[in-house]
Amino acid sequence: MNYLNKQYKKDGKFKIKHNYLNEQFADTKDYFKLIKDVVSTNDFTLGSYVSKFENKFKKKINAKYAVGVGSGTDALKLSLEALDIKLGDEVILPTFTFYASLNPIIAVGAKPVFIDSKFDFNIDEKKIVEKINKNTKAIMPVHWAGKICNMSVIKKIAKKYNLKIVEDACHAYLSKYKGKFAGNFGHTGCFSLHPLKNVNVWGDGGVITTNEKKIYDRLILLRNHGLKNRNELEIFGHNSRLDTIQAAIGYKMLDKLDNLTKIRRRNAKMYDEGLKVIKQISIPIRDKNIIQNFQLYSFLCQDRDKLIGYLNRFGIDAKIHYPKPMHLQKPCVKNNYHKGKFENAIKIAKNIISLPVHEYISKKDVKFVIKKINNFYN
Ligand SMILES: *Cc1c(COP(=O)(O)O)cnc(C)c1O
Repeated sequence: MNYLNKQYKKDGKFKIKHNYLNEQFADTKDYFKLIKDVVSTNDFTLGSYVSKFENKFKKKINAKYAVGVGSGTDALKLSLEALDIKLGDEVILPTFTFYASLNPIIAVGAKPVFIDSKFDFNIDEKKIVEKINKNTKAIMPVHWAGKICNMSVIKKIAKKYNLKIVEDACHAYLSKYKGKFAGNFGHTGCFSLHPLKNVNVWGDGGVITTNEKKIYDRLILLRNHGLKNRNELEIFGHNSRLDTIQAAIGYKMLDKLDNLTKIRRRNAKMYDEGLKVIKQISIPIRDKNIIQNFQLYSFLCQDRDKLIGYLNRFGIDAKIHYPKPMHLQKPCVKNNYHKGKFENAIKIAKNIISLPVHEYISKKDVKFVIKKINNFYN
Protein backbone atom coordinates (compact mmCIF):
# COMPACT_ATOMS: atom_id res chain seq x y z
CA MET A 1 0.00 0.00 0.00
CA ASN A 2 2.93 2.40 0.30
CA TYR A 3 2.89 3.82 -3.21
CA LEU A 4 5.25 6.65 -2.24
CA ASN A 5 8.59 4.82 -2.60
CA LYS A 6 7.74 3.79 -6.12
CA GLN A 7 6.45 7.23 -7.00
CA TYR A 8 9.58 9.01 -5.72
CA LYS A 9 11.86 6.58 -7.55
CA LYS A 10 9.99 7.23 -10.78
CA ASP A 11 9.99 11.01 -10.25
CA GLY A 12 13.73 10.99 -9.50
CA LYS A 13 14.50 9.70 -12.98
CA PHE A 14 13.31 12.81 -14.78
CA LYS A 15 15.83 15.39 -15.99
CA ILE A 16 13.68 18.35 -15.06
CA LYS A 17 12.01 17.52 -11.77
CA HIS A 18 9.50 18.94 -9.37
CA ASN A 19 11.85 18.39 -6.45
CA TYR A 20 15.57 18.55 -5.87
CA LEU A 21 15.94 17.54 -2.25
CA ASN A 22 19.52 16.30 -2.72
CA GLU A 23 20.61 19.65 -4.07
CA GLN A 24 18.58 21.59 -1.56
CA PHE A 25 20.12 19.70 1.37
CA ALA A 26 23.61 19.34 -0.14
CA ASP A 27 24.95 20.98 3.03
CA THR A 28 23.84 17.86 4.92
CA LYS A 29 26.76 18.12 7.36
CA ASP A 30 25.52 21.42 8.76
CA TYR A 31 22.13 19.85 9.41
CA PHE A 32 23.72 16.85 11.09
CA LYS A 33 25.52 19.24 13.42
CA LEU A 34 22.20 20.61 14.58
CA ILE A 35 20.81 17.12 15.06
CA LYS A 36 23.89 16.19 17.08
CA ASP A 37 23.14 19.20 19.24
CA VAL A 38 19.67 17.88 19.97
CA VAL A 39 20.87 14.33 20.60
CA SER A 40 23.77 15.25 22.86
CA THR A 41 21.54 17.38 25.08
CA ASN A 42 18.59 14.92 25.01
CA ASP A 43 16.47 17.90 24.14
CA PHE A 44 13.94 15.75 22.27
CA THR A 45 10.40 16.71 23.25
CA LEU A 46 9.40 20.32 22.61
CA GLY A 47 13.11 21.08 22.72
CA SER A 48 14.64 24.50 22.30
CA TYR A 49 14.77 24.27 18.50
CA VAL A 50 10.98 24.15 18.40
CA SER A 51 10.62 27.67 19.77
CA LYS A 52 13.67 28.89 17.85
CA PHE A 53 12.08 27.63 14.65
CA GLU A 54 8.65 29.02 15.55
CA ASN A 55 10.13 32.46 16.18
CA LYS A 56 11.99 32.55 12.90
CA PHE A 57 8.97 31.23 11.01
CA LYS A 58 6.54 33.83 12.36
CA LYS A 59 8.94 36.78 12.05
CA LYS A 60 9.39 36.16 8.34
CA ILE A 61 5.65 36.60 7.79
CA ASN A 62 4.90 39.17 10.51
CA ALA A 63 2.58 36.91 12.49
CA LYS A 64 2.30 37.36 16.26
CA TYR A 65 2.33 33.68 17.19
CA ALA A 66 3.42 30.37 15.65
CA VAL A 67 2.85 26.87 17.01
CA GLY A 68 4.80 23.91 15.65
CA VAL A 69 2.69 20.76 15.26
CA GLY A 70 2.95 17.27 13.78
CA SER A 71 1.87 18.04 10.20
CA GLY A 72 -0.03 20.47 8.00
CA THR A 73 -3.07 18.25 8.41
CA ASP A 74 -2.81 18.49 12.19
CA ALA A 75 -2.39 22.25 11.87
CA LEU A 76 -5.84 22.37 10.25
CA LYS A 77 -7.38 19.93 12.74
CA LEU A 78 -6.04 21.67 15.83
CA SER A 79 -7.13 25.02 14.39
CA LEU A 80 -10.70 23.79 13.96
CA GLU A 81 -10.69 22.47 17.52
CA ALA A 82 -9.19 25.63 18.93
CA LEU A 83 -12.01 27.56 17.25
CA ASP A 84 -14.58 25.20 18.75
CA ILE A 85 -15.73 23.62 15.48
CA LYS A 86 -17.43 20.36 16.40
CA LEU A 87 -20.06 17.73 15.69
CA GLY A 88 -22.94 19.10 13.62
CA ASP A 89 -21.09 22.22 12.47
CA GLU A 90 -20.51 22.92 8.79
CA VAL A 91 -17.23 24.08 7.28
CA ILE A 92 -17.03 25.60 3.81
CA LEU A 93 -14.09 24.68 1.56
CA PRO A 94 -13.31 24.33 -2.15
CA THR A 95 -13.86 20.91 -3.71
CA PHE A 96 -10.73 21.43 -5.79
CA THR A 97 -8.05 20.96 -3.12
CA PHE A 98 -5.71 18.40 -1.58
CA TYR A 99 -7.22 15.65 0.60
CA ALA A 100 -5.61 17.15 3.68
CA SER A 101 -7.96 20.14 3.64
CA LEU A 102 -10.96 17.83 3.93
CA ASN A 103 -9.91 15.19 6.45
CA PRO A 104 -9.45 17.52 9.46
CA ILE A 105 -13.06 18.69 9.06
CA ILE A 106 -14.22 15.08 9.26
CA ALA A 107 -11.87 14.44 12.17
CA VAL A 108 -13.59 17.04 14.37
CA GLY A 109 -17.02 15.67 13.45
CA ALA A 110 -18.05 18.58 11.24
CA LYS A 111 -19.60 18.43 7.78
CA PRO A 112 -17.65 19.61 4.74
CA VAL A 113 -19.61 21.87 2.40
CA PHE A 114 -17.92 22.12 -0.97
CA ILE A 115 -17.79 25.17 -3.21
CA ASP A 116 -16.78 25.38 -6.86
CA SER A 117 -13.53 27.06 -7.89
CA LYS A 118 -12.57 29.81 -10.30
CA PHE A 119 -10.10 29.29 -13.11
CA ASP A 120 -7.31 30.61 -10.92
CA PHE A 121 -7.95 27.36 -8.95
CA ASN A 122 -9.13 29.15 -5.80
CA ILE A 123 -12.54 28.98 -4.13
CA ASP A 124 -15.18 31.04 -5.92
CA GLU A 125 -15.99 33.58 -3.21
CA LYS A 126 -19.21 34.55 -5.02
CA LYS A 127 -20.64 31.08 -4.38
CA ILE A 128 -20.03 31.01 -0.64
CA VAL A 129 -23.00 32.94 0.75
CA GLU A 130 -25.65 30.67 -0.83
CA LYS A 131 -24.22 27.75 1.18
CA ILE A 132 -24.35 29.44 4.56
CA ASN A 133 -27.00 28.30 7.04
CA LYS A 134 -27.37 28.24 10.82
CA ASN A 135 -24.91 25.35 11.13
CA THR A 136 -22.14 27.02 9.16
CA LYS A 137 -19.29 27.88 11.49
CA ALA A 138 -16.14 28.30 9.40
CA ILE A 139 -14.60 28.89 5.98
CA MET A 140 -11.38 27.21 4.93
CA PRO A 141 -9.89 29.05 1.95
CA VAL A 142 -7.02 27.17 0.26
CA HIS A 143 -4.40 29.40 -1.38
CA TRP A 144 -3.80 27.16 -4.39
CA ALA A 145 -0.23 27.10 -5.72
CA GLY A 146 0.47 30.01 -3.39
CA LYS A 147 -2.05 32.37 -4.97
CA ILE A 148 -3.92 33.91 -2.07
CA CYS A 149 -7.73 33.74 -2.25
CA ASN A 150 -9.85 36.87 -2.45
CA MET A 151 -9.51 37.50 1.27
CA SER A 152 -11.15 40.95 1.19
CA VAL A 153 -14.46 39.39 0.18
CA ILE A 154 -14.03 36.23 2.28
CA LYS A 155 -13.27 38.28 5.40
CA LYS A 156 -16.36 40.42 4.80
CA ILE A 157 -18.55 37.32 4.50
CA ALA A 158 -17.03 35.81 7.64
CA LYS A 159 -17.68 38.99 9.58
CA LYS A 160 -21.27 39.35 8.41
CA TYR A 161 -22.20 35.74 9.23
CA ASN A 162 -19.93 35.41 12.26
CA LEU A 163 -17.78 32.62 10.80
CA LYS A 164 -14.25 31.59 11.66
CA ILE A 165 -11.58 31.51 8.97
CA VAL A 166 -8.97 28.76 8.93
CA GLU A 167 -6.51 29.50 6.14
CA ASP A 168 -5.08 26.46 4.43
CA ALA A 169 -1.83 28.23 3.62
CA CYS A 170 0.08 24.98 3.06
CA HIS A 171 1.02 26.19 -0.44
CA ALA A 172 1.53 29.79 0.47
CA TYR A 173 4.50 30.49 2.75
CA LEU A 174 5.85 33.97 1.77
CA SER A 175 2.97 34.70 -0.61
CA LYS A 176 1.47 38.16 -0.16
CA TYR A 177 -1.93 39.74 -0.76
CA LYS A 178 -2.24 43.54 -0.60
CA GLY A 179 1.05 43.71 1.26
CA LYS A 180 0.19 41.10 3.90
CA PHE A 181 1.65 37.59 4.14
CA ALA A 182 -0.45 34.41 3.96
CA GLY A 183 -1.16 33.13 7.44
CA ASN A 184 -2.41 36.52 8.66
CA PHE A 185 -5.89 36.58 7.11
CA GLY A 186 -7.67 33.93 9.13
CA HIS A 187 -8.17 33.26 12.83
CA THR A 188 -5.38 30.80 12.12
CA GLY A 189 -3.06 30.09 9.18
CA CYS A 190 -1.92 26.53 8.58
CA PHE A 191 1.35 25.44 6.99
CA SER A 192 2.94 22.12 6.08
CA LEU A 193 6.64 21.26 6.37
CA HIS A 194 6.33 18.19 4.14
CA PRO A 195 9.44 17.60 1.97
CA LEU A 196 7.49 18.56 -1.15
CA LYS A 197 6.44 21.97 0.17
CA ASN A 198 8.49 25.14 -0.20
CA VAL A 199 9.54 25.23 3.43
CA ASN A 200 10.36 21.68 4.31
CA VAL A 201 11.95 19.27 6.75
CA TRP A 202 13.12 15.65 6.75
CA GLY A 203 9.81 14.10 7.62
CA ASP A 204 6.49 15.53 8.72
CA GLY A 205 5.79 18.82 10.42
CA GLY A 206 3.37 21.71 10.43
CA VAL A 207 2.90 25.21 11.79
CA ILE A 208 -0.13 27.21 12.88
CA THR A 209 0.07 30.99 12.92
CA THR A 210 -2.37 33.28 14.69
CA ASN A 211 -2.51 36.87 15.84
CA GLU A 212 -4.79 36.18 18.81
CA LYS A 213 -3.35 35.29 22.20
CA LYS A 214 -6.43 33.31 23.26
CA ILE A 215 -6.21 31.05 20.21
CA TYR A 216 -2.47 30.65 20.68
CA ASP A 217 -2.92 29.57 24.31
CA ARG A 218 -5.45 26.94 23.28
CA LEU A 219 -3.22 25.60 20.50
CA ILE A 220 -0.32 25.23 22.91
CA LEU A 221 -2.55 23.06 25.12
CA LEU A 222 -4.08 21.12 22.21
CA ARG A 223 -0.76 19.98 20.76
CA ASN A 224 0.43 18.55 24.07
CA HIS A 225 -2.48 16.43 25.40
CA GLY A 226 -4.28 19.47 26.78
CA LEU A 227 -1.85 19.54 29.70
CA LYS A 228 -1.37 22.79 31.57
CA ASN A 229 1.40 21.25 33.64
CA ARG A 230 2.87 17.81 34.26
CA ASN A 231 -0.15 16.45 36.11
CA GLU A 232 -3.22 18.42 35.10
CA LEU A 233 -5.38 18.46 32.02
CA GLU A 234 -6.94 21.76 31.13
CA ILE A 235 -8.79 20.47 28.03
CA PHE A 236 -8.81 17.29 25.90
CA GLY A 237 -5.91 17.36 23.48
CA HIS A 238 -3.56 15.47 21.19
CA ASN A 239 0.00 14.40 20.86
CA SER A 240 0.90 16.60 17.90
CA ARG A 241 4.14 18.33 18.76
CA LEU A 242 6.57 19.41 16.10
CA ASP A 243 9.49 17.01 16.43
CA THR A 244 12.58 18.83 17.76
CA ILE A 245 14.87 17.26 15.17
CA GLN A 246 12.55 18.42 12.39
CA ALA A 247 12.41 21.87 14.00
CA ALA A 248 16.22 22.03 13.87
CA ILE A 249 16.15 21.16 10.17
CA GLY A 250 13.47 23.76 9.54
CA TYR A 251 15.35 26.38 11.56
CA LYS A 252 18.28 26.21 9.18
CA MET A 253 16.24 25.58 6.05
CA LEU A 254 14.26 28.82 6.58
CA ASP A 255 17.39 30.80 5.71
CA LYS A 256 17.05 29.58 2.15
CA LEU A 257 13.45 30.61 1.66
CA ASP A 258 13.92 34.12 0.29
CA ASN A 259 16.25 33.07 -2.48
CA LEU A 260 14.29 29.94 -3.24
CA THR A 261 11.08 31.95 -3.59
CA LYS A 262 12.81 34.55 -5.76
CA ILE A 263 13.97 31.94 -8.26
CA ARG A 264 10.58 30.23 -8.34
CA ARG A 265 9.03 33.61 -9.19
CA ARG A 266 11.60 34.19 -11.92
CA ASN A 267 10.89 30.78 -13.47
CA ALA A 268 7.13 31.35 -13.28
CA LYS A 269 7.48 34.69 -15.02
CA MET A 270 9.49 33.10 -17.82
CA TYR A 271 6.83 30.40 -18.23
CA ASP A 272 4.10 33.07 -18.27
CA GLU A 273 5.83 35.00 -21.04
CA GLY A 274 6.63 31.91 -23.09
CA LEU A 275 3.31 30.12 -22.75
CA LYS A 276 0.68 32.86 -22.83
CA VAL A 277 0.97 33.11 -26.62
CA ILE A 278 -0.06 29.48 -27.11
CA LYS A 279 -3.78 29.44 -27.83
CA GLN A 280 -4.38 25.95 -26.38
CA ILE A 281 -3.11 27.17 -23.00
CA SER A 282 -4.86 29.33 -20.44
CA ILE A 283 -2.65 30.86 -17.75
CA PRO A 284 -4.48 32.02 -14.59
CA ILE A 285 -4.91 35.78 -14.31
CA ARG A 286 -2.01 37.34 -12.42
CA ASP A 287 -3.65 39.70 -9.94
CA LYS A 288 -1.46 42.73 -9.23
CA ASN A 289 -2.47 42.62 -5.55
CA ILE A 290 -0.87 39.21 -5.15
CA ILE A 291 2.75 38.21 -4.94
CA GLN A 292 2.68 34.45 -5.40
CA ASN A 293 5.36 32.04 -4.15
CA PHE A 294 4.68 29.48 -6.93
CA GLN A 295 4.65 26.41 -4.74
CA LEU A 296 3.24 25.01 -7.98
CA TYR A 297 3.15 26.39 -11.50
CA SER A 298 -0.22 25.30 -12.90
CA PHE A 299 -2.42 26.24 -15.84
CA LEU A 300 -5.18 24.80 -18.02
CA CYS A 301 -4.41 23.23 -21.37
CA GLN A 302 -5.96 21.22 -24.20
CA ASP A 303 -5.01 17.56 -24.69
CA ARG A 304 -3.58 17.56 -21.19
CA ASP A 305 -2.86 13.84 -20.84
CA LYS A 306 -1.13 13.68 -24.20
CA LEU A 307 0.94 16.74 -23.38
CA ILE A 308 2.06 15.16 -20.11
CA GLY A 309 3.07 11.96 -21.90
CA TYR A 310 4.99 14.01 -24.46
CA LEU A 311 6.84 16.08 -21.86
CA ASN A 312 7.62 12.98 -19.77
CA ARG A 313 9.29 11.41 -22.80
CA PHE A 314 11.67 14.39 -22.91
CA GLY A 315 12.54 13.97 -19.24
CA ILE A 316 10.22 16.71 -18.00
CA ASP A 317 8.19 15.83 -14.92
CA ALA A 318 4.86 17.43 -15.82
CA LYS A 319 2.18 16.38 -13.33
CA ILE A 320 -1.46 16.67 -12.36
CA HIS A 321 -2.31 18.28 -9.06
CA TYR A 322 -5.04 16.81 -8.78
CA PRO A 323 -7.24 14.84 -11.16
CA LYS A 324 -10.24 14.24 -8.86
CA PRO A 325 -12.02 16.93 -6.84
CA MET A 326 -13.06 16.07 -3.30
CA HIS A 327 -16.82 15.85 -3.97
CA LEU A 328 -16.17 12.93 -6.37
CA GLN A 329 -14.00 10.96 -3.95
CA LYS A 330 -15.51 7.72 -2.70
CA PRO A 331 -16.08 8.55 0.98
CA CYS A 332 -17.66 11.90 0.05
CA VAL A 333 -20.11 10.30 -2.36
CA LYS A 334 -20.89 7.63 0.22
CA ASN A 335 -21.74 10.30 2.78
CA ASN A 336 -23.75 12.42 0.38
CA TYR A 337 -21.31 15.32 0.31
CA HIS A 338 -21.17 15.23 -3.47
CA LYS A 339 -24.35 17.10 -4.34
CA GLY A 340 -24.17 20.44 -6.08
CA LYS A 341 -22.74 22.04 -9.18
CA PHE A 342 -18.99 22.00 -9.53
CA GLU A 343 -18.55 22.59 -13.24
CA ASN A 344 -15.36 24.59 -12.99
CA ALA A 345 -13.69 22.18 -10.60
CA ILE A 346 -14.47 19.31 -12.94
CA LYS A 347 -13.07 21.22 -15.90
CA ILE A 348 -9.97 22.17 -13.91
CA ALA A 349 -9.35 18.58 -12.83
CA LYS A 350 -9.56 17.51 -16.46
CA ASN A 351 -7.30 20.21 -17.90
CA ILE A 352 -4.85 21.29 -15.21
CA ILE A 353 -1.14 20.59 -15.49
CA SER A 354 1.83 21.58 -13.30
CA LEU A 355 5.32 22.18 -14.63
CA PRO A 356 8.49 21.93 -12.57
CA VAL A 357 9.26 25.40 -11.17
CA HIS A 358 11.82 24.57 -8.47
CA GLU A 359 14.73 26.84 -7.54
CA TYR A 360 17.18 24.33 -9.07
CA ILE A 361 15.60 24.68 -12.49
CA SER A 362 17.75 26.92 -14.66
CA LYS A 363 16.62 29.48 -17.22
CA LYS A 364 17.85 27.05 -19.86
CA ASP A 365 15.60 24.31 -18.46
CA VAL A 366 12.59 26.63 -18.52
CA LYS A 367 13.31 27.57 -22.13
CA PHE A 368 13.61 23.89 -23.02
CA VAL A 369 10.21 23.12 -21.47
CA ILE A 370 8.58 26.05 -23.29
CA LYS A 371 10.10 24.90 -26.57
CA LYS A 372 8.81 21.37 -26.12
CA ILE A 373 5.30 22.60 -25.34
CA ASN A 374 5.40 24.72 -28.48
CA ASN A 375 6.51 21.72 -30.50
CA PHE A 376 3.68 19.65 -29.07
CA TYR A 377 0.96 22.05 -30.15
CA ASN A 378 2.46 22.78 -33.58
C1 LIG B 1 0.28 19.51 1.88
C2 LIG B 1 -1.03 20.08 2.11
C3 LIG B 1 -1.68 19.96 3.35
C4 LIG B 1 -1.23 19.09 4.50
O1 LIG B 1 0.05 18.91 4.73
P1 LIG B 1 0.73 17.65 5.47
O2 LIG B 1 1.88 18.31 6.16
O3 LIG B 1 1.15 16.72 4.41
O4 LIG B 1 -0.22 17.06 6.43
C5 LIG B 1 -2.89 20.61 3.51
N1 LIG B 1 -3.45 21.32 2.51
C6 LIG B 1 -2.86 21.45 1.31
C7 LIG B 1 -3.52 22.29 0.26
C8 LIG B 1 -1.64 20.83 1.07
O5 LIG B 1 -1.08 20.93 -0.14
